[in-house]
Amino acid sequence: MIGSVLEPEWDDVERAWMLAREHYRQVDQCQVCGMPKAICRSIETDGMVAVDSERCHVSAAIARKQRADQQAEMDLPETLAYEARMHQPDELPPEAAP
Ligand SMILES: [Zn+2]
Repeated sequence: MIGSVLEPEWDDVERAWMLAREHYRQVDQCQVCGMPKAICRSIETDGMVAVDSERCHVSAAIARKQRADQQAEMDLPETLAYEARMHQPDELPPEAAP
C-alpha cells in the first residue's frame, strides 16, 4: 500500500508572517484610508498629503445610468441591479466605432 503524508501548507515562518500581517490589518492599518495609523493620524501629516484621482469609467457609466433611472422615476429604484458590460460594436456611436 502506498501512503502519503500531508505536508503542512505553511511553515512556522510563513505562519508568523500571516499573523503579523493580520495584526497589522486589524490594529495598525487605518480602516478609513488604508495607510498606517502612525502616519495618517499624526498631526505632522496634516498638510503633507497629495491626492491624485483617476476616473473609473465603468463606475461612471453605472452612476450615469442610475441618475437617468432616478430622473425617469423608475418604479422601485432600490430593486434595480446594475451590471456593467462592454458595448457591442453595433451599439457604439459612429465616431467610436472601430
Ligand atoms: Zn487613515
